[in-house]
Formats: sequence, C-alpha cells, structure tokens
Amino acid sequence: MSGKDHASKYGPATRLVEAGRRKQWTSAPGQKGGVVNPPVWRGSTHLYEDTADLAKGRPNADGHFYYGRRGGPTQWALADALTGLEPGADGTELFPSGVAAIACTLMAILQPGDELLFSDNSYEPTRGIALGMLERFGITARAFDPLDPKALAAMISDQTKAIMLESPGSLTMEVCDIPALTDIARDRGVISIVDNTWASALGFPALERGCDISIMSLTKHVGGHSDLMMGCASAAAPLIDRIRQHSQYMGQVVSPDDAALALRGLRTMGIRLERTTASAITIASWLEARPEVSAVLCPMLPGAPGFGLWERDFTGGCGLFSFIFRDADKQSRARFIDALDLFGIGYSWGGYESLAIPVDPGRVRDFRAWPGSIDTGCGLGVRLAIGLEDADDLMNDLIRGFAAMEI
Ligand SMILES: *Cc1c(COP(=O)(O)O)cnc(C)c1O
Repeated sequence: MSGKDHASKYGPATRLVEAGRRKQWTSAPGQKGGVVNPPVWRGSTHLYEDTADLAKGRPNADGHFYYGRRGGPTQWALADALTGLEPGADGTELFPSGVAAIACTLMAILQPGDELLFSDNSYEPTRGIALGMLERFGITARAFDPLDPKALAAMISDQTKAIMLESPGSLTMEVCDIPALTDIARDRGVISIVDNTWASALGFPALERGCDISIMSLTKHVGGHSDLMMGCASAAAPLIDRIRQHSQYMGQVVSPDDAALALRGLRTMGIRLERTTASAITIASWLEARPEVSAVLCPMLPGAPGFGLWERDFTGGCGLFSFIFRDADKQSRARFIDALDLFGIGYSWGGYESLAIPVDPGRVRDFRAWPGSIDTGCGLGVRLAIGLEDADDLMNDLIRGFAAMEI
C-alpha cells in the first residue's frame, strides 16, 4: 500500500509504524518473507537488463531504478512515508537540508518578474533567500505582517506568485491564521507555501489547512537525534512534479544512509512529540509564574499569544518555545544560559536533548516587533528546545540559571 493510501486509511500513530515499509522495499528477490526496515541501498549506478531496456528508459517517478541521483529504495521509502503523513499530498521530494528544500522550492515556482511575499516571522535563512538570492533572478520579495490578513490582501499584486508562511514563527512563536491567509492567496491565484517544521505534518496537516506546499526541515523532529540533516517538500500534483523537476536540475540528492536514519527517527516521532509537548507546556506554565519572566511565548499555553489559533488549527505541538526576561542585560542572560547543565547551547532543535539559545527576535523584523500586546520586559529572551529529559530536572536546571543571573 502506498503512503498516499495510508493517509486516508490509518490514524497518524499507525501510519508512523507502517510508513514506507512496502514489501518491494523490505524483501529480497527470490526470498520468502523480508526484514522490518527498508535496507540501505547504496548505489550511484543503476543497472539495466540489456541495451533495449536502457533505450526504453524509466518513468521519472520514485520506484524506478534509473540513476543514483533519482534515489533508490531507501529514499523512496522515506519519501513515500512522508507523503503518507501529509493528507492531500501526491508526493514528497527530499533535500539535503531544510534550507535546500526552501531554496529549491522557491526556485521551482518563481520566475523573473514574479513577487514573493514572505511572513515577517520567517526563519532567518528564508529571509536571506528571499531578499538576497531571488533578487539576482529578477524576483522581488517583500515581508508581510503574518498577523494581519487584510494587510496581506492589500499587498498582493498582479506580480505576486507565492506567499511563504511559517507558523509559529520559530523565534517569536506567533501563530498566524493560515486558513484565512491561504484563502486570500487562493482567491488571487497565489501559491501558499508553509515552513511546517515546528508542528510537522503530525501537528499541522498543512495541505488540509489550505497550503499548497508543505516544507519541513527533517533535521529537527523527523531525524530527532541531532545526527542528520535533511529537508522535504510535499504537495499535490502538478506542483510536486514541478518541484521534482527543479530538484533534479539542481542536483539535489540525499544519501540512503541518511534516509534510513530519518526513517528510524520517524518511527518514534509521535511519542517524542507527545512527550516534548507535554514537558514544554509544564515548563512554560511554570516559567510564566516566575518573577524573572515577563512573557512566555508558547502558543500551547492557555492565554499565551496564538493559543486560540493553535487550539483551532493544530493537532499537536513540540518542545520549542521562547520566553522574555523582565529585567536582564546581555551579561546576566549569558550567565543564565551558561549556568545550565542539561540544556546544550546550539542551533537546531527537535532532538532528544534540550537546548537553549539567546533570542532578540525584534531586530529582524519589518513590522511589529512582538506578537500581540504582551509585556516584553527588557526585550531579551531565550529560546528553549525541550527534549526528553524529566521536566523536573529541566526546571531545576533553569532555577540554577536564574540564580546565576545575580540581578
Ligand atoms: C532549522 C530550520 C530550517 C532549516 O533546516 P536545516 O535542515 O537546518 O537546513 C527551516 N525552517 C525552520 C523553521 C527551521 O527551524
């Protein structure tokens, strides 16, 4: 059964187990039975039966041996599994990183003279691609306020080809009204792309909520163990075919070893996300009551900015959120972070281990600096990625951090 069939037949937990384990990928020719996981098929050259077979060629779709750059069974199994997680998708393209997925998808759908509108809370490299790279190809890009659908409607012009969304924003965590924004886009013939890394397809069925293309950094929740980099784009036909063609023009390919690691990560993604979501809510509500904290930016927290939309549109969350100090300077914030034992200091998130980094998200914006009318305190914050540790241990670690601030 294909991933697409799974999407309509099974619940998400079952799909995570069944995903990508088609018999043709888990059994060896001439053998009865098979193995549980699709094995790692290493290969650049794919062999043909004879010259007539070579001359016949192969359909340009997953599942057909052609040449290593079009992947092999391990990559096809992963792509199929991801398609099965995203109701409404006809296919998934894999990329060597999340950023590659964003860049290549934008290159696939935009051409000279087009305009891209990107939400002002976009991940920094997305902003860089939009403003730095696309311009060289005669494509203009402007930021829009993701919390103001009317403003988006007013900005769309005849040149606007696509909008790029991210929800929640990966630093400021504001949730935007994706069904409203994508309705506006669709009415004007504009393609909606979402960076769905935060919730993953499990927590936000992006195509069902009106998006045309859903992009994820698989480096985060799907990999889940901080040991691989990968990205993907899922969409219905014909958009997915266009993305596929451009991915091939640009030589995008992932290794079968990484695809096997991503498949392994996928199996436990559901329970990992349940656990990190629950711990994040516990820790976020505890932080909210701390005197050192002026605001917790966590849409999963009742009463926090974005909670209403999150509750309405999302089916899950994850361990990533930010908070703002009431009173801190850069030195005391650094002491806070440096005093943490259990939180590593590093980019990325979605691994089994907790991480903390300083955030000053107001600086990268064109529109409002902070979501809603919240008490932004001193404006200096920390982004936490909550891992699988005991929440009590993590809170004790944060208490150590507060004590080290000495303010
Ligand atoms: C990390 C991240 C990406 C990029 O993914 P890489 O795999 O690191 O290239 C894209 N979007 C968001 C929201 C991210 O957090």
